[in-house]
Amino acid sequence: MEQFSVRTNSRYEFVPITAQIRSLVRDSGVNQGICVVFCPHTTAGLTINENADPDAARDMIYILEKLVPADDPGYRHMEGNSQAHVLASLMGSSLNLIIDNGELQLGTWQGIYLAEFDGPRTRKVYVQIR
Ligand code: ZN
Repeated sequence: MEQFSVRTNSRYEFVPITAQIRSLVRDSGVNQGICVVFCPHTTAGLTINENADPDAARDMIYILEKLVPADDPGYRHMEGNSQAHVLASLMGSSLNLIIDNGELQLGTWQGIYLAEFDGPRTRKVYVQIR
């Protein structure tokens, strides 16, 4: 397994990690295979979305914050970050990616993001390539 760290700078943030994953795929020498990316955290997740316009990620955060309120009198979790737990589960904790011709197969406009919901923190990303 490979891993790398991502430093987040705010409470909510979509950090592009496509370049790090592509680099690990190239270094692996795998020509045809699978790349599993895993986020070992409960208040951050992984997602794939538009990589060209930074406002697309900004709008995702905007609407996710509205969908899942930061404060709700019904929350019981003592740590006070239930919103972050819910949003992390909505994004998911792993991605399965296809390697063909030694390259990650993403759509033209797709980028891989670590989705931070309880930053700033240092997050880990695990990668298994076969
Ligand atoms: Zn918590």
